[in-house]
Amino acid sequence: MAKIDPTLAGKLKKYGAKDFPACYNCGNCTAVCSLTAKDANYPRIFLRYGSLGMKDEILSAREPWLCYACGECSAACPRDAGPGDFMAAARKFAIAHHEPTGLTRLLFTNSPFAVVFTVLLAVVMGTFMMMVSDRVDPDNVLKRWIFDHLSFSVIHDMGMVIFTFMGLSALLGMILMGRRLFAGMPKLENPRKAIVSAIHNVRAELLTMRRYRKCQDDEEPYFKDRKWPFQPWFVHWSIMWGFIGLLFATILDFLLKDPATTTWWPSRILGTVAGIAMMWGATLAIIYRIKGVARQYRNSTLADWALLGALFAAGLTGFWMEVAVMAHLENDLNAAIFIIHTIVSMELVLLFAFSKFAHAVYRPLALFNYFLRQK
Ligand code: SF4
Ligand code: SF4
Repeated sequence: MAKIDPTLAGKLKKYGAKDFPACYNCGNCTAVCSLTAKDANYPRIFLRYGSLGMKDEILSAREPWLCYACGECSAACPRDAGPGDFMAAARKFAIAHHEPTGLTRLLFTNSPFAVVFTVLLAVVMGTFMMMVSDRVDPDNVLKRWIFDHLSFSVIHDMGMVIFTFMGLSALLGMILMGRRLFAGMPKLENPRKAIVSAIHNVRAELLTMRRYRKCQDDEEPYFKDRKWPFQPWFVHWSIMWGFIGLLFATILDFLLKDPATTTWWPSRILGTVAGIAMMWGATLAIIYRIKGVARQYRNSTLADWALLGALFAAGLTGFWMEVAVMAHLENDLNAAIFIIHTIVSMELVLLFAFSKFAHAVYRPLALFNYFLRQK
């Protein structure tokens, strides 16, 4: 017997599913969704789960992760219940539920806390970076106070403890989520073949966004005649691969010891190409949300804006730094831009598992589960 949570509807509203109680269960949304299938039926049933307080059914489902928020269902809803928004809220709810510290829940549902926390984190990191900088006089009062009370190695170790704690919380959340997703998995006839085929399908999906392209809303006037670089699936693709490319470029940079001024250095080429891709996607996504060009862009939460804003800021300051380094422009302004770039990038990495960004892990997991069960 499923456990009922009578407070579930109220909780989901806080995650962005504001209008779903208006649903009268007609099924139009499921009928128009191009991704719903016999073995992965959504979104109607999930709004029903939300109304009935069936929390476990939402938390253990892979379906919210198979949805790409194209908004086709929301456009077809006669009650304006926002089924697409509901699926997005269900994803955020699941990320928050599985993350064990409770930080994600606060970041998603308590806007003042989210603002204060991220600003405070930025101030702490920024102050520390400024204090270790050669540009700040060793006799600076704050610098002297910090290093009189804490040695550099203690500060370094504290940073490592925080990073490890955040990493372990993230890992635990992902394990808990994975366990739920894979519970009740039917016995596979040929597990090896099924796993290889599922991995192949997930890889193809991530590389080509073929399911996302399928769920494009053809009735949406804004996107009807636009070329592929402006379509939502490509915006999503650019942000995802741009960010992954930048992560790899940073690691490569560390390993190859980038000489900083060589344009054709491998990590620099990768970083530039990935940065352009990420900026393209983030800029378009911000414009689409500001203009509210389609239903899926009209119900933005603070978490949506924060993630896009951080990606945009990281990209912009990254390119600024690239130009400044190439042109040997060493001055206070560029030192400040470097600190901003580092803070934003660190926040993105640190809060990866505590933000909407965590879907980058959960979606491939759910896709893997989906393709595995198809065998
Ligand atoms: S969300 Fe809208 S379209 Fe879907 S079942 Fe409810 S009322 Fe019908
Ligand atoms: S937003 Fe798109 S993919 Fe998601 S349920 Fe609605 S129609 Fe399907």
